[in-house]
Order: sequence, then structure tokens, then C-alpha cells
Amino acid sequence: MTSTPFRVAYVDHACDIGGGAQEALLDILRYADRRIVQPVLLHAEGAQWLRDVDLNTLETRVVFPAAEAFPGQSRDDLGSLWRRASGAAQSLQPVRRIRRALAECRVDIVHTNTLKCHILGGLAARLAGKPLIWDVRDILEAGAARSVLLAVAKRTRPHVVAMSSAVADSLASARCETTVVLGARPLDKYSPDAPDDQLRAAIGIEPTDKVLSVIARLTPWKGHTTLLEAFASVLPQEPAARLLVIGDTGFWESDYRDTLERLAEQLGCADAVRWLGFREDITELLALTDVVVLPSHNEPFGLVLIEAMAANKPVIATNTAGPLEIVASGATGLLVEHGDARQLADAMLELLGDPDRARTMGQAGRKRAEKLFDISRLMQQLYGVYETVTS
Ligand code: UDP
Repeated sequence: MTSTPFRVAYVDHACDIGGGAQEALLDILRYADRRIVQPVLLHAEGAQWLRDVDLNTLETRVVFPAAEAFPGQSRDDLGSLWRRASGAAQSLQPVRRIRRALAECRVDIVHTNTLKCHILGGLAARLAGKPLIWDVRDILEAGAARSVLLAVAKRTRPHVVAMSSAVADSLASARCETTVVLGARPLDKYSPDAPDDQLRAAIGIEPTDKVLSVIARLTPWKGHTTLLEAFASVLPQEPAARLLVIGDTGFWESDYRDTLERLAEQLGCADAVRWLGFREDITELLALTDVVVLPSHNEPFGLVLIEAMAANKPVIATNTAGPLEIVASGATGLLVEHGDARQLADAMLELLGDPDRARTMGQAGRKRAEKLFDISRLMQQLYGVYETVTS
């Protein structure tokens, strides 16, 4: 390992409260050993996801404008970005700003954290002649966004850090150097805790309730509609079942929550659903939970699954991409077909009806998480990638 710390520019354009990508970057900023990495954060004006970061202790530069001036955040909207970027000087301004920041901050490596940043940060890195790392956390379906990303990969030749093997496979045709660095979290933050009675009362559940939780942004591909359908069919057999819907919409699809709430009404399960919005007390909410459900379509990873496992909770997820690499099916949780409400309902009934099995699965999940998904392992792997791209 080098004796001089790497000066790494982390580039993230998000303005909103953030999702897994921002959580993962916050972990890197918190846990990077300053003798090995000196981080410089290049971010957006008013970035809300930086809420608990003491910016005085971190070198930062604003390189992206606030959300309103730079809209469109879904994982498939790069096509429109590209049209804007190729035409509008406004969209290229971040490239100039990033390039200036790389020079002023004497950066050694550029590490981009979102799809937009892979493009804009990637161009800036290449103009500045700096090694480029794309931290890829998405699986793009065939379409404009994917084509743009592949085209830019050909020009900028990033070293890809893929959050799962499924993510790496999805970008294989770009033929970039790739390292799979499985997602990770500081597991002890989620260590099992006694349920908090006050919190339970505040969110309207009883100690005897059987609690299912989904912790995910409210966006169609996360599969909340299938979950509500499945939950409605579970209730007649498990009348004490309650569903905590934890997470919120991005500002660009803010009416999606209304759509889901209407669906719960139509399905007749609304009284048993608690809409909690975005929460910062995930550890405490996990302590109140019996089973965590993540019904998403083609989930690239699913950090919430490892948070649940760290908290000794069994999980139900879809048998796709990331969850296949995280969940030991039958041992730490159950995997079901995406979009199959019947299978999902059966899995929920199976675990709610057999608390001993659910508990055993939760304990096995914690052990698996300790072996594979702790942040210290991720940091060691990243240091190795930094060494590789600079040598
Ligand atoms: N999260 C949170 N509060 C919420 C909903 C989600 O803190 O109300 C966190 C969650 O604990 C996890 C991240 O957001 O750390 C979501 O990451 P994941 O990989 O599961 O999904 P992504 O948002 O990246 O698609």
C-alpha cells in the first residue's frame, strides 16, 4: 500500500434525500482511513443527503446546481440527459466545474457515484487526465440510457466497481476493467435492539402485531404494488399483520405515493398499512419488524437486505440480480418471482406463521452478513482498486 494518501474526488449529483447510492458514499466518507484516502466531495448545491455530514471536516466543492436546475433522476433518464448535455451549455457547466475542482484540489483519482456523474465526472476526469472509477449501482435495461453509458465507457475507459456480479455482467459489453465490490454497511449500526414501545405507539402498532416492513424508495420498480396485493391476501389468515411502508418518492414522481395509497384502499388493506415516509431511524424500525420484504424488479443489490440481516431479521426478496447474491435462500430468507403476488403472500404466511423458523433465519442472516457484507471488507477492496488505477 502506498505511503502517501490517495486524494480521491467522490462525485455525486443528487440533491434529494438520497437512496442507497448516497448511503454507500456516506459510508465511504465516514470509514475511509485518512492515512490511505483523503476524500474530496464534489456535490450539488443544497444536497439534502449530506444532512448529518460535518462539512467542516470534509473537503468539498459544489459542482452541480440545485435540483430544479438539473432535473430528472430516474435510473433510465440518461437519454434525455445526453440530449441536454450535447446541446446545452448549462449541462456542460458541471464538467467545467468538476475539472476545475480536480485541479484546485490536486486530486489523484475520480470516483463517480451516480449515472449522471459517470458521464459528466467521467468527461471531466478524462479532460484532466485522471484515473476514473465508476461505482456502478444500477442495472440498465436496453434503451437510450444504456446506450449512452456504453458509448461513454468506450471513450472514458473507467475502472468499473460493480456492486454485485449482476451489475458487472450487465456492463460486460463495455469491456472495462471491473472489480466486483459487494455492497456493505457498518453492521453494528443495525445490531438487534429491544423494540421501543414509544415508537411502536407512535406508528400505531400493538406489541402483538406481526410486522412486515418494506424499506425502499417509492418508485415503481421497487414492486410496492405487488406487495400491497400480496399483503391484502395475507390479512384474512393473519389479521394481526401490519405493513410498514418506509421510504418516500423522489420529487420527480411525488404523486406515486397517492397512487399506492389508493391501491391499498381498493384492496381493502389500508387500515393495516402504515405509511411512514422517509425515516432516519431504520435501526429502531427494524427492531419492531418481524420480516423485511423487498419485492423489487431486477434489484441491482438492495442494501436494506443486509441491514435487515445485520438486525437478525429474515428477508423476503425477489429471485433476481442482487438478492440472489445476498440471500441464502431457505437459510437466511425466501426468494420469490418478481411480480408474483401469490408467491409473495405464501412466503409472508410461511414466515409469519412460524416465528421460530423466522428467528433462526434472522440469526443465520446476521452470520452471513458478518462474513460478506461489513463495511471494513468493502474499504479494503476499494483501497486495492485505488492502488490498481494509480499504478
Ligand atoms: N433508507 C432510509 N430511510 C428510508 C428508506 C431507505 O434510510 O426511509 C435507506 C436504507 O436504509 C438503505 C438505503 O436507503 O440504506 C436504500 O438502499 P438500497 O440499496 O436498498 O436501495 P436503493 O435506494 O439504492 O435503490
